[in-house]
Amino acid sequence: MGFFDKIKQKISGVADALSFDRLKEGLSKTRNSFVGRLRSLLSGRTIDDTLLSEIEEILITSDVGVETSEKIIARLKERVKSENVTESDAIVGILKEEIAALLMESPAAQDDATFAIDETDKPHVIMLIGVNGVGKTTTIGKLARNYKSAGKTVLIGAADTFRAAANEQLEVWANRAGVDIVQQQHGADPAAVAYDTLNAAKARGTDVVIIDTAGRLHNKLGLMQELEKISRVMKKIHPNAPHEVFLALDATTGQNALQQAREFTKVAPVTGIVLTKLDGTAKGGAVIAIADSMSIPVRYIGVGERIDDLQPFDAVSFVAAMFDEESSGDAGA
Ligand code: GDP
Ligand code: GDP
Ligand code: MG
Repeated sequence: MGFFDKIKQKISGVADALSFDRLKEGLSKTRNSFVGRLRSLLSGRTIDDTLLSEIEEILITSDVGVETSEKIIARLKERVKSENVTESDAIVGILKEEIAALLMESPAAQDDATFAIDETDKPHVIMLIGVNGVGKTTTIGKLARNYKSAGKTVLIGAADTFRAAANEQLEVWANRAGVDIVQQQHGADPAAVAYDTLNAAKARGTDVVIIDTAGRLHNKLGLMQELEKISRVMKKIHPNAPHEVFLALDATTGQNALQQAREFTKVAPVTGIVLTKLDGTAKGGAVIAIADSMSIPVRYIGVGERIDDLQPFDAVSFVAAMFDEESSGDAGA
């Protein structure tokens, strides 16, 4: 029984098969660049140290990151040795298995509570943080829609009071998701908005609260303290809030996203990562680097701008989609 038999179980439902196709479509640039380059490198080559370091080079330039690439190459070497692999053709398959195995050891693989909440600890409060433009607000719309589809009531708090058009943008997403929003005027104290939101959620018996925040850099002390204040004030209403602090990262920024993950997790109590914009980027390898090097899980991935373009991150599906060259539009030989 191979690793990828799990996939067959996972994508048995129609909805799952559709989302797997969407993931594959999203990863097509990464796949073409990464697997494409691997295949042309490997054709007709014998397996030696030079080849292995050229493979490592491809991993690194596919945004897999130096540390993670080294780990993968060490595992590859081990397999080549123990299984006496001589055909360079076999390497793609081994890489696929070893990358999947690596990700299965990461925290992301242990975490599959999606759109489920602790019913005894409501409202379940999620806060989105990250730098400007990474997709926090969009992700909130998508999360709200998913929770609503799962039968939960949702209230969104518009605690990005910094950007002028933030309220309007969030309102559009709340309407699309069919959920309510709590807001104040532009420039208001974000902690006050969060407080209002939790108060309203408590009064209504809302299941899930999602708090938007303004974009910020991890090294702006005042802005990080602002996040702390938001959390502190929410605890006055619900001591366990926020249950989740999701850091949104833009996958198209590759190694920069990894760097942001490292920095933010040092200064904020991040509980999970949302990797956005995986569609249309060739830097999907960054997901491997982030899942492998961070001690917090990648929870969701964004594969487009539409409300249904959010998927729970699944390591096995991800690697399968990244390597799967069939039926991706181009007739492969
Ligand atoms: P924020 O500043 O972090 O709140 O980011 P926004 O939610 O406003 O998103 C910034 C831009 O990224 C918008 O144009 C979104 O449509 C786009 N975006 C967000 N998520 C995704 C995604 O998964 N895929 C693509 N292609 N675009 C996305
Ligand atoms: P500086 O580090 O002293 O230069 O502080 P800034 O000029 O960056 O910010 C001063 C104050 O303006 C902050 O405490 C925030 O309230 C607000 N502010 C400035 N830039 C931003 C931003 O990008 N996001 C948010 N949320 N607030 C900001
Ligand atoms: Mg926003």
